[in-house]
Amino acid sequence: MAKPAECVFCKIVEGKAEARKIYEDESNIAILDVNPRFGEGQCLVIPKKHVEQFYELDDEDLFKLFKAVKTVALKIKKVYNPDFVALFSRGMGIPHVHIFVVPSYRHDVFITSYMLLTLQRRFDSGIKPEKLDKIAEKLRNA
Ligand SMILES: [Zn+2]
Repeated sequence: MAKPAECVFCKIVEGKAEARKIYEDESNIAILDVNPRFGEGQCLVIPKKHVEQFYELDDEDLFKLFKAVKTVALKIKKVYNPDFVALFSRGMGIPHVHIFVVPSYRHDVFITSYMLLTLQRRFDSGIKPEKLDKIAEKLRNA
């Protein structure tokens, strides 16, 4: 896929935009997120190849990406010693694969918000076992 001229992650990969790089290998870089919505120490792992979504990467590149994610997760674990290291990826803001790697704590706001949101959804949608069976079947057969 051709890289859009304005892709900030491509610019970072090419050294044309500044970033606080914390890890690099032949296929990926990891940078400290300048806008850490989920908390201090939040990093982004970014493939050097311009691809919009992680599921568009071939298996080999995906393996390398998640190996880099593991390396970054271990760095976060070593520095912050969080209860968990959480991952998130959507790609709405910048359409170039990036995996958020986030220190997460048993009682932090990220988890609490998530729990409240899921509880709210559960009450709203009234998910019953029969509905879960149908959802699982749809996904299994997709
Ligand atoms: Zn890009």
